[in-house]
Amino acid sequence: MRFDIITVLPELLDGPFSHSILKRAQQKGHLEVHLHNLRDYATNKQKQVDDYPFGGGAGMVMKVEPIAACIEKLLSERSYDEVVYTSPDGLRLDQGICNRMSLLNNVIILCGHYKGVDERIRQKYITMELSIGDYVLSGGELAAAVIVDSIGRLIPGVLNDETSALTDSFQDNLLAPPIYTRPAAWEGMSVPEILLSGHEAKIDEWRYEQSLERTRARRPDLLGE
Ligand code: SAH
Repeated sequence: MRFDIITVLPELLDGPFSHSILKRAQQKGHLEVHLHNLRDYATNKQKQVDDYPFGGGAGMVMKVEPIAACIEKLLSERSYDEVVYTSPDGLRLDQGICNRMSLLNNVIILCGHYKGVDERIRQKYITMELSIGDYVLSGGELAAAVIVDSIGRLIPGVLNDETSALTDSFQDNLLAPPIYTRPAAWEGMSVPEILLSGHEAKIDEWRYEQSLERTRARRPDLLGE
């Protein structure tokens, strides 16, 4: 899967994709992340990518021309399944969306800044608007990092243990059960007996019960309760 991220701050995105699972995903050829500096598409001498809002008011608005030039260039090179704009008023990202998007091939992510982008960009190019939660970030880069990370780890072949994503929270609308590792006893707290029993079926059953209990207590909405 290929992501093309359009941003005024590519440096902000150097880190998140160069470690651990996402780094390996790129090395194994499952994931490509290309950063595009919007300033490279600015037409005037000052490399201006924003301007004052029509109608007045606080904050700057991202101009149409550089964004259009960048998106047009990408669209002329290959076809894209989605052109995403990160925005607090978009569809709230969840595991279901991530699962579905992990099957796509090419996705553009446009990161907003300042007050956001000129509405006409959204009308002309954007096919999907994603929010990562009901709060306002100063730019779309961290949202793009969250989107690429949460989708990238689901691309078939990325996780070492193929089943591991399936037992994470939100798959099957359940939160994950408690987990433990060695030592079996620590500060007077011991690991539940069942996990040391070696009895796989009973362990699965215990984990399912724990998942249900935790979901009921913390997120009854996931169970439709
Ligand atoms: N004026 C906008 C907020 C602008 S914040 C409003 O009130 O809705 C600047 C940029 O940060 C946005 O254009 C968007 O790209 C990004 N951003 C902020 N909060 C976000 C969120 N919750 N999810 C995704 N992107 C977000």
